[in-house]
Amino acid sequence: MSELEQHPADTAFHARLPIGERPDAAPLTDGLPWAFEEITMRPLEPMLVPEKPRGGEVDPESCSSCLPSEHTIWHDDLWQVRAGWDVGGLPFIGAISPREHWLLEDAPHEVLAAYGPLMQRISQAVKSIPGVARCHFARWNDGSAHLHLWALARPAGMMQGRGAVLAFWDGMLPAMPQEMGAEHIRIVAEALASGGGEAFPRT
Ligand SMILES: [Zn+2]
Repeated sequence: MSELEQHPADTAFHARLPIGERPDAAPLTDGLPWAFEEITMRPLEPMLVPEKPRGGEVDPESCSSCLPSEHTIWHDDLWQVRAGWDVGGLPFIGAISPREHWLLEDAPHEVLAAYGPLMQRISQAVKSIPGVARCHFARWNDGSAHLHLWALARPAGMMQGRGAVLAFWDGMLPAMPQEMGAEHIRIVAEALASGGGEAFPRT
């Protein structure tokens, strides 16, 4: 594939940005003082377009979310949950995606409508892990084009993990023992399967 010809985005929004300057991190240290004390931001880099294609965007045949995976812990006809790549510091992180290669932009309403009740079930399943107070959900989709969302377990009493900052704590809390991570996956997979679909617990 030839090298992508990129140029700086030239919208009115971009024109006013201080590219090359280092943003003040006070919104993090002042706005989330329970998590951040001292942060140095990198200077703003040029924002180039068109962006490089995401995984599975040019060639859906190579989409990792479509291929079978040992990390699938549960699925039904429309949706799948994957987890257990690296054991991190949060009690559970799972990726939720349609079984078929849909983007948010073209997913059939039948698939999207099924996500609502599933989101409720995933929250309940994750909160059934001992020591978990809440299940946070996120959808970024910058790495893979295949529609996917994240479910993250917030430890009970961890007020420093409130909100979006929870995702960063996964790398900073001590990693769980492998057996604990596998047990948490089993709990979520079996709780989901009790409401339908099939669990694939780790052995
Ligand atoms: Zn896909």
